[in-house]
Amino acid sequence: MTSNDRVAVALGKVAARTIRILGAGLGSNLPGRVARKIAPAVLSNLAGQAKKGVIAVSGTNGKSTTSGLLSSVLKTAGFTLIHNRQGANLVTGITATLVDAASWDGCINTDYCLFEIDEAALPLVAKETPLSVVVVTNLFRDQLDRFGELDTTAKLIAKGISIGNSPAILNADDPNVCQLAPGTNPLFFGLDAAQCDIESHSTGAEDCGQTQAFELSYCSKCESEIAYDCYFYGQLGHWRCSKCSYKRPEPTIVGTHVQLQATGSRFRLTDKSQNLSVEVKLPIPGLFNVYNALAAAACAAKLGVTLESIKQGLQNYSTLFGRSEKISLLGKSVLIQLIKNPAGASQTVKAVVEDKTARVLIAINDNLADGRDISWLWDAEFEPLKSLGGQVIVSGQRAEDMAVRMKYAGIEAERIIVVPKLEKALRQALHDTEADETLWVLPTYTCLLELQKIVKTMGQSLSGT
Ligand SMILES: [Zn+2]
Repeated sequence: MTSNDRVAVALGKVAARTIRILGAGLGSNLPGRVARKIAPAVLSNLAGQAKKGVIAVSGTNGKSTTSGLLSSVLKTAGFTLIHNRQGANLVTGITATLVDAASWDGCINTDYCLFEIDEAALPLVAKETPLSVVVVTNLFRDQLDRFGELDTTAKLIAKGISIGNSPAILNADDPNVCQLAPGTNPLFFGLDAAQCDIESHSTGAEDCGQTQAFELSYCSKCESEIAYDCYFYGQLGHWRCSKCSYKRPEPTIVGTHVQLQATGSRFRLTDKSQNLSVEVKLPIPGLFNVYNALAAAACAAKLGVTLESIKQGLQNYSTLFGRSEKISLLGKSVLIQLIKNPAGASQTVKAVVEDKTARVLIAINDNLADGRDISWLWDAEFEPLKSLGGQVIVSGQRAEDMAVRMKYAGIEAERIIVVPKLEKALRQALHDTEADETLWVLPTYTCLLELQKIVKTMGQSLSGT
């Protein structure tokens, strides 16, 4: 640490306190910005003090949940860590997290730094501090107006991995992710081919015979279309190039015997390098969260955590606000799940209809952080919602558009209730939810932030706030 770094840390801390006292919004980036202005190398000098290294989690969906699961696993295994749990995942936010965790004279005392990192920020962070391992969850087509092409995002992540030649933990089932780090001998995770047995209570293994992907992907070697022997969702599945010999690599960390339940999942977790398996009861629902758990498990295994500790850590996980968090509001159970792109939203809808007691509130904004272009709502599968009885309340700035989408999903007009103001919508939805039912709230990002404030005024103290 230089004296400049120490001044930067102190002033960053002062900025953070001032923001807290003034209650000036979340302000998660400003202390980082202040510190970096004074000492441009402050991130590098603080993160460099972590005894065991810096872990990065990136990808389009599931960064927060994957890093949350990994945090739970590492803590269960006895490690200390600094984690940007609030999800401030740009360079300034990560710097702010470090400044906050440092002592006033700029000392960091931790085993690991665990950072979820925005795809575009990954190479910037990698340039400043060596990444001991980079986990990539998936690469779904996000709102196109954020980064442009998926290719650009893939290149940014690949660059983030290659700058420090970091070991990568990659999703074998995602052809977009597999092609990222050819030179680094990555550790792959995925759902098993021979065990294509995702059981779901009401719908059966409907996806498993499917070979036509919802999202098209292309081979990085010959640019031909990717084909599937077994397909799960989005572009995830057991893929192979339709022309050349390029295909899904065999994963080392494997999930099998997946049972999706209303509020959680069970699966068998196998580490093929050790030929060991454990049964995991994951306390959060949806196949997408099984993938997040596999990503966290693969990273922990790479860091030498035992499979038994990994199992305990996954089962100990307590959720983040808006990421499948179950809360009680005005005496009713509420489950909040952020939606932001077609693949994630479609999977969330599947989890909702698994729950036969589900009530539904969908809140859509189109602010910059949500993505201005809401055409993705038409690529997401909301159709299964018609199998639920009762009303669907739609809210947010684009409530009307969502109502139209619901109508085209086959939901009768009289079941679609439009309440643009989110607080009013939430209160009405809670009122309509019976004591033995669960209200599922599906917000876009800025609706989630708004929801966080509303829920606070209702007297709830929440994780992640
Ligand atoms: Zn090919």
